[in-house]
Amino acid sequence: MRVGSASVTARLDLDLPVPDLTAAVCDIESVSGNEKVLADAIGRALTPYPHLEVTRRGNTVIARTDLGRAERTVIAGHIDTVPVAGNLPVRRAGPMLWGRGTVDMKGGVAVALRLAAHVVAPSRDVTYVWYDNEEVESAKNGLGRLARTEPELLAGDFAILMEPTAAVVEGGCNGTLRADVIVPGRAAHSARWWMGTNAIHAAGEVLDRLRRYQPADVDVDGLVYREGLSAVGIAGGIAGNVIPDRCVISVNYRFAPSRTEAEAQAHVRGVFDGFEVVLTDSAPGARPGLNHPAAAAFVLAVGGAPRAKQGWTDVARFSALGMPALNFGPGDPQLAHHDDEQVDVREIETCEQRMRDWLTAGG
Ligand SMILES: [Zn+2]
Repeated sequence: MRVGSASVTARLDLDLPVPDLTAAVCDIESVSGNEKVLADAIGRALTPYPHLEVTRRGNTVIARTDLGRAERTVIAGHIDTVPVAGNLPVRRAGPMLWGRGTVDMKGGVAVALRLAAHVVAPSRDVTYVWYDNEEVESAKNGLGRLARTEPELLAGDFAILMEPTAAVVEGGCNGTLRADVIVPGRAAHSARWWMGTNAIHAAGEVLDRLRRYQPADVDVDGLVYREGLSAVGIAGGIAGNVIPDRCVISVNYRFAPSRTEAEAQAHVRGVFDGFEVVLTDSAPGARPGLNHPAAAAFVLAVGGAPRAKQGWTDVARFSALGMPALNFGPGDPQLAHHDDEQVDVREIETCEQRMRDWLTAGG
């Protein structure tokens, strides 16, 4: 049996109510790297709508309106999921829809599909993007690929990423940086320990600095981002009778979007002054940009008090292209990737309704 062979002609009916459409999207399994069948189904479902210009790049599908409006909004979401864990096909129990992808983030995918199909004359032009490979290493990310190769396809004044936020606007995101702090020593036989310098003992100074570190809460454009500097790994020692000559403490710095990557790096080097610090990974944050008129209008239309997005998301890719971007989508983000991932379908309906109202207001 070939996985996916039975669903090569999978169809999505965009006239289905959004809870049913979410269930149908979830039931087309699309673990990262296996998005083709779902991308095919999305492309096929959108093609009949004459107000959309549909473009396919790999397993990323883009649909654009082109009404000559004064501004353009990008509405984006990833179509892949983390691996299935006995949680497909989806199940319904009262208002809850249970199964892989219901939270992260096929409710958002279904909302965007419904809006694309049925809001034929939005008050601002819209570029919808359904992209592949978000749940794996950044180099494969479909949105990142477009941003590198054809940024013109993502051009707009403002972007909404439909990751789960429990239908609350979450602005921007923190940046993230990983580094290794290297503590040197001098090897010796542990029976003659005084001949060496124990790198693991010396690492205590690094741990002391981490314990003493006071992470900042940083106000950026009116939202408060909580920073953090944490040890996420430690390695040292080669044998039970050798004084270790090296200990490596891996740290992760989550930094407010008011800092650039270079500033974040300088900050970490400052904290561990006197030790060798090797940068291993870094991604910039994104300012919330809620004072941008398009973003402000969206916040006003969907209601509620916006909050800061603490974890890194693809909004940073829009920010890097110079566009304000926020997160807004159905589903409790705390349930993302859990085996009992589940969403209240009323939240998906609310998201659809609010975004539809926004896209049709003042048009
Ligand atoms: Zn996600």
